[in-house]
Amino acid sequence: SEMNASVEEKLVLLEGMRTALEPCLEERDGRCTGADCQFQLLYQPKVDLRTGQVFGVEALIRWNHPEHGLISPLRFIGLAEESGMIVPLGEWVLRTACFQTQAWRDAGLPPLAVSVNVSARQFEEKRLVERIADALRDSGLPPQALEVEVTESSIMRDLARSVEKMRELEAMGVALSIDDFGTGYSSLSALKSFPISRLKIDKSFVSDLADSLDDQAIAMAVISLGHKLNLRVIAEGVETEQQRDFLRANDCDEMQGYLFSRPVPPERIAEMLAASITL
Ligand code: C2E
Ligand code: CA
Ligand code: CA
Ligand code: CA
Repeated sequence: SEMNASVEEKLVLLEGMRTALEPCLEERDGRCTGADCQFQLLYQPKVDLRTGQVFGVEALIRWNHPEHGLISPLRFIGLAEESGMIVPLGEWVLRTACFQTQAWRDAGLPPLAVSVNVSARQFEEKRLVERIADALRDSGLPPQALEVEVTESSIMRDLARSVEKMRELEAMGVALSIDDFGTGYSSLSALKSFPISRLKIDKSFVSDLADSLDDQAIAMAVISLGHKLNLRVIAEGVETEQQRDFLRANDCDEMQGYLFSRPVPPERIAEMLAASITL
């Protein structure tokens, strides 16, 4: 739909984004106090396939537009990326996710890790590592509780510099995972030099897992490649028990998807965690 959007539509959306972001950026503690806050983070649980435990969440942005209603990130992240607005927007996501995850900890809930999506332009930005360090320091979240999800194509844009940046994050204690693995252009020889902890099997390979022998082969290959490189492998977009059973039988480590939970507001995560204590 973004391809079809006219230049004018894009400009209107962009201007709306700028306006919507203003009150968010005033709050450095990751909370927008104004009722006018249009951006919101939802969190989708990540589940360990062996224990069934929720060990982390992925932060996913939503835009509640006053006139257009809920706008999918698929419609505005690309635009934010093109315009450079992804940098302040992404920083808001990062800070909000860190403060929220620390707030769950402060509330005495079982500690979770949080994953934040970082787009290509954000990943390339010079001050990324500094911004991450600031968000961790200001929120009090331990670096080990933060994971950055980045796509292969973002990394491959400037391989040498990316590896340098990944090393800096690793030295800080922040985990890195490769998002949408298998959908982009990636080099297996480069992969081995990445200081990453996880591969994420894209949901396009998971949706037909029950019927497609090709997708089964791809999922199995990614799992075994990941394990041989000492990485954990997570599958996204798991919607059915058959998909989960296949992944579990083939030694996939973790999953996320509608089968367990959709992305939900932070209060719902707190409830889930509280329920897991009394079990
Ligand atoms: P992604 O990082 O690959 O995230 C997975 C997408 O799949 C999310 O869509 C999630 O809601 C959806 N999903 C999760 N489980 C299932 C399932 O079982 N079935 C199906 N059909 N879908 C499932 P969402 O939230 O619309 O986000 C779309 C994309 O927008 C993300 O893809 C990510 O690339 C980008 N995005 C979202 N939030 C952010 C953000 O804060 N920053 C950046 N840079 N990008 C973001
Ligand atoms: Ca992701
Ligand atoms: Ca992605
Ligand atoms: Ca994906």
